[in-house]
Amino acid sequence: MADFAKISKKLKRVLGKSRVLFQPEEKLAYSFDAGSRRSIPSIVLFPETAREVIEIVETASEFHLPIVPRGAGTGMTGGSIPINDAVALSFERMNRILKIDASNRIAIVEPGVVTVSLQDEAIKFNLYYPPDPASFKMSTIGGNVAENSGGLRCLKYGVTADYLIGTEFITMTGEVIKTGYFDDYRAPYDLTQLLCGSEGTLGIIVKIALRLIDKPHDFLTLSAEFPNPVSAAGSVTDILNSGFTPSVLEFMDKTAIEAVSRQERFDLNEETAALLIIEFDDDAEKNNFYAETTISICRKNGALSVKSAKDAEARENLWKFRRSTSSALTRLNTCKINEDIAVPRSKIAEIVEFVENMAEEIDILIPIFGHAGDGNIHINFIFDKNDTGQSERAEAGVDRLFTKVVELGGSISGEHGIGLAKQKYLPKQLEAGNVAMQKQLKAVFDPQNLLNPGKIFV
Ligand SMILES: Cc1cc2nc3c(=O)[nH]c(=O)nc-3n(C[C@H](O)[C@H](O)[C@H](O)COP(=O)(O)OP(=O)(O)OC[C@H]3O[C@@H](n4cnc5c(N)ncnc54)[C@H](O)[C@@H]3O)c2cc1C
Repeated sequence: MADFAKISKKLKRVLGKSRVLFQPEEKLAYSFDAGSRRSIPSIVLFPETAREVIEIVETASEFHLPIVPRGAGTGMTGGSIPINDAVALSFERMNRILKIDASNRIAIVEPGVVTVSLQDEAIKFNLYYPPDPASFKMSTIGGNVAENSGGLRCLKYGVTADYLIGTEFITMTGEVIKTGYFDDYRAPYDLTQLLCGSEGTLGIIVKIALRLIDKPHDFLTLSAEFPNPVSAAGSVTDILNSGFTPSVLEFMDKTAIEAVSRQERFDLNEETAALLIIEFDDDAEKNNFYAETTISICRKNGALSVKSAKDAEARENLWKFRRSTSSALTRLNTCKINEDIAVPRSKIAEIVEFVENMAEEIDILIPIFGHAGDGNIHINFIFDKNDTGQSERAEAGVDRLFTKVVELGGSISGEHGIGLAKQKYLPKQLEAGNVAMQKQLKAVFDPQNLLNPGKIFV
């Protein structure tokens, strides 16, 4: 058992009293993320500089204490849960935008910068940071990089990895490693991309360089209502095959729509059982042409109505409606398992139909929503966790879902990562040799297995 009083005393010397939390009631807020798991950290630390992170790492190594980096705790798979008495290393005080280099279109940030703050800052320079997880008003760039987060706009613009050009990270041996932009792009192995999506298990990221692009100016947003989810899903594939790419193409089924409608006002046809929200952000002429084609595709597939948002406020209301889905579904019962599967775009209708049938068969509510345009759909199992029968049926349903997804050539995680929640399913996706290679990589970066141990691999 580690001597926490001694450790805490040492860390208070490095960080000062106010940046070391040791009392149970203070640590509670760092014991969970947006998933269902909980574990109270042994200590919570708030570094303000890379130098302090190095000292924390050295202390942790000396006392053989695991460390779990933490952004905003909006992760869905338990990546930031401090299991095994780990230290929670919160980056909420390393939250400065260090530079917007407008002429080279590069942003340099600390990991605790909230995603929306970077987006807003870029806009002041007429630039754009496209990755926008639906949690963008809370999530941090450090968390986004560690999870390689996607978002609503990733259909056209790609995910966090497509904008990440460099990192500075600290290993558990206390070394500072500079990659990509910070190392003049010279290293033969691409450690920048290796860190991206490593879920806080390879290095502690303390500085991030991101590519920015020109800000789009014209937006045209459509909402298309359908009498059934399969025809909406079929329309997604038809739109994607029509020769242009919307910037966003989101899907919500009836349960998702009804759940959000309880908290957000939105006029819908009574028979609506699925909603597509589609946005274009090219110039006005192209947007109009794409919208006309999209409207005729939706009508051909039986849409009840296709409406265009008449102004910026109506557009914002649509996105607010969509972005409220995850939290609205949480209120439907005592447990929500949110699986972020991804399938090839040609298989979207097939997976939607599979889930609809399975929900009926196992008698569990399974709403579907998400970034359908890139095949990344959130399948939510909603049930009463106090009812053993329901819990078992939901668990078996998740297993069946993942088997089907892999069979269709898809992925068991489109964007939320593996963390704790999906580690037992990883062998369904990856061959044993691949898993073994990944474990060896982890051991190279973290020989004592102290950085976020017990995550990703069983
Ligand atoms: C309502 C809602 C909507 C969401 N929508 C989306 C979505 O559209 N797309 C999407 O991809 N995800 C989405 N998510 C999931 C989540 O927001 C993302 O995974 C996000 O990137 C997590 O950021 P965070 O700052 O909250 O990180 P945390 O949850 O705190 O941590 C996530 C992981 O990052 C690691 N980490 C954090 N900071 C560092 C660091 N400095 N160095 C090394 N590792 C670090 C942690 O150890 C952990 O493994 C959503 C979540 C919610 C609650």
